[in-house]
Amino acid sequence: MKTDELREKYLEFFETKGCVRRPSDVLVPRGDPTVLFTPAGMNQFKDQFLGVGKLDFTRATTCQKCLRTGDIENVGNTAYHHTFFEMLGNFSFGDYFKNDAIHWAWEFLTDKKWLGLDPQRLTVTVFQEDEEAYGIWHDKIGLSADRITRDNEHENFWPAGAPSEGPDGVCGPCSEIFYHPPGSSGNVEIWNLVFTQFNRVGDPPDNLRPLPKKNIDTGMGLERTAAVLQGHESNFEIDTLRPLCEASAAAVGVKYAYDSPHGRAVRRIADHVRAVTFAISEGVLPDRDRERYVIRQLLRRAVMEGFLIGQHDPFLHTLVPNVAEAMQVPYPELGKETEKIAEAIRDEEEQFLGTVEKGLHKLDNYIEKARGDGKSVLSGDDVFDLHQTDGFLIELTEAVAAKHNLSVDRQRFNARMQRHLQDSGRGAFADKVMAAGPLDAIRETQAGTDFVGYDETASTGKVV
Ligand code: ATP
Ligand code: MG
Ligand code: MG
Ligand code: MG
Repeated sequence: MKTDELREKYLEFFETKGCVRRPSDVLVPRGDPTVLFTPAGMNQFKDQFLGVGKLDFTRATTCQKCLRTGDIENVGNTAYHHTFFEMLGNFSFGDYFKNDAIHWAWEFLTDKKWLGLDPQRLTVTVFQEDEEAYGIWHDKIGLSADRITRDNEHENFWPAGAPSEGPDGVCGPCSEIFYHPPGSSGNVEIWNLVFTQFNRVGDPPDNLRPLPKKNIDTGMGLERTAAVLQGHESNFEIDTLRPLCEASAAAVGVKYAYDSPHGRAVRRIADHVRAVTFAISEGVLPDRDRERYVIRQLLRRAVMEGFLIGQHDPFLHTLVPNVAEAMQVPYPELGKETEKIAEAIRDEEEQFLGTVEKGLHKLDNYIEKARGDGKSVLSGDDVFDLHQTDGFLIELTEAVAAKHNLSVDRQRFNARMQRHLQDSGRGAFADKVMAAGPLDAIRETQAGTDFVGYDETASTGKVV
């Protein structure tokens, strides 16, 4: 089943259950101080979950554009993580609850009319205290006990970490569904059913306030489920992403193969250019602060991956039409904006490559200095300076140093980075978003005494 068909089938299925099909919300929400990017389908319905929103329906289904910077290190490494991805979801605002949500998920996955997955290949998890969910899976769906895992709040409460340490907002126990591909010892989490029952405010013990009405919020990974249906072990092999990987490889002068030495770098390029293209199409251009800084970093990382493979000219912008083509069914408007988006990417690429050249010159001096002193390790302070003032990514420094048989004092670099991340300025916040993901960054920043908010004028701190 093609990815576009899966998206349509999901939305259609939930329409038969009375859900109103709604368009994806934006990727970069304005006016929501708790997130820089939309991390899940539920974000556009926060008010409905809190019982304060005004919509004339109580059941919805969407396919949401999401971006999770916290997954950036996974991208290309794991088979199933992207920064930008699409999340299918079905929602209830005080309407249907656990029993229906679980039954419908099972029906959609296993009924031959819909996905027709082999039920024997599916297992689930539930929150350890959620007897109700366990009972539905076990007694009504008929899953044997060995296929239901009870887990703690880190795995089965959403957002993770509740009740003691999670971020404020709507939350609840969840039940995740995993698929076990034939011939593989691993599994892949495809769907998370969240039973949104609480509003978390402040510190424990009394911070979980029951919501006026119980809700459902589910998220199914479109690319992951497509990979399952298409029999691939990685999302990057599906019909929409494999061609983008091939185009990315060609743009940096190599041929793509999943396990080739450049495979990971190419997947990162493909992932990041998709994220950057969507952000820019919403008018979020790479720049110095907040979400614009994240987009700049994603763009630079992609360019850096190409640079390390040997592509020293701007190339990323040439991939915009490929992104538009891969995404043309759900987002036909992208096709009309490719030139504008490519131009913005090209400008940034040129600027970054200029920086790289300047940084390389500085780095040459550091390398000579280290050699002159008979050292095999570059100073963590110098490398940190290169990172902060020249926007020189640490991976690039390490790759260049390695060519001269030198390493980098990572311990010192990391210590400087840690100290920098504890600063309260805007630059530190943005770096933290890249290091830990927005939820953690917000939580940590809020925990600090220097938190001053996220409006445009509140904090300062220059980032490159
Ligand atoms: P994982 O444990 O694999 O990181 P998660 O538990 O963080 O996933 P959820 O927050 O439960 O993910 O999101 C709901 C669904 O969205 C997941 O079950 C998965 O199918 C999909 N998903 C989550 N993160 C990603 C990602 N980075 N790339 C692609 N799909 C994702
Ligand atoms: Mg995750
Ligand atoms: Mg998970
Ligand atoms: Mg999950």
